[in-house]
Amino acid sequence: MTRLDIRLFGDPVLRQQARTVTDFDDRLATLARNMHETMAAASGVGLAANQVGVLKRLFTWSDGEDDGLRGAVANPRLLDASEEVQEGDEGCLSFPGLFYPLDRPLRVQVAWQDLSGDGHEVELEGFLARVWLHEMDHLDGVLFIDHLARHDRKAAMRAMRQLRDEETGGDTRTRPGSLLLGSRRDGDAL
Ligand code: ZN
Repeated sequence: MTRLDIRLFGDPVLRQQARTVTDFDDRLATLARNMHETMAAASGVGLAANQVGVLKRLFTWSDGEDDGLRGAVANPRLLDASEEVQEGDEGCLSFPGLFYPLDRPLRVQVAWQDLSGDGHEVELEGFLARVWLHEMDHLDGVLFIDHLARHDRKAAMRAMRQLRDEETGGDTRTRPGSLLLGSRRDGDAL
């Protein structure tokens, strides 16, 4: 398995629309395996292909437990979302160490395809609904800061500018994974 570089805020690929997965082949399976490896190494619970520079509608997820549930999702489509919301802090592996309060629908219904191309429908509640919504946003170039209160969004962008200046001299395209290992605070980064 290969650990991939996680793209940070400021990298244009995070704002691009990912393309529908059409080839459910070995390359896709390898990408998913590497994304799982990358996500786990960064203590994340979700990782979208955009975040490793690949514009495919694919993400990996886990429930955050050591031997818990995890999976890879291709071409997700939101069928329904509850009006009832859940409160909670949310982070993102492309914004290491930053967590902000963000309301999300409590329940969602999603159609998706597995790595063989077989179609499924799932209803998710709570934490996993949050994870999947966050990752589906990534595939459309939407970031969690887009949903934040204005002052939190500004704070997040300021923090990321500072991080870039301090750590990379402005180059956001590649990051060593080591920084992300220590990035987890109270919440789970997605
Ligand atoms: Zn994210």
